[in-house]
Amino acid sequence: MWKIKKNLINDIIQSSKNYLPEEFLCFLSGNEEKKEINEIVLIPTQNGNDYSSINIYNMPIDKTIIGSLHSHPNGLPIASKADKKFFERFKINIIIGITQVETKINAYDNKSNKINIKIVD
Ligand SMILES: [Zn+2]
Repeated sequence: MWKIKKNLINDIIQSSKNYLPEEFLCFLSGNEEKKEINEIVLIPTQNGNDYSSINIYNMPIDKTIIGSLHSHPNGLPIASKADKKFFERFKINIIIGITQVETKINAYDNKSNKINIKIVD
């Protein structure tokens, strides 16, 4: 099962909140074999209420990038059609459904199957 540190997920939730009402998008770096997410990687993005798009040329060439993460400001962490297409690139993709009052987290694999992540100390 994928693992993510509590501190890191708290930072991510805070950033997602700061971006409201826009989407927050970042990449995840870590160890794919150990299924550990260690850091977030920020890259220049264009954000909107219901979309995030990245310029593919801004994608870092970095083997430690193992996943993606973005927020849904409507509070529902459900993968859209575009999300599913994007998720094909990575083994771990996290959606944070976030509003000012509520946070819900879903994780998906590269086939958009829901998977579990464990929050560790
Ligand atoms: Zn999405």
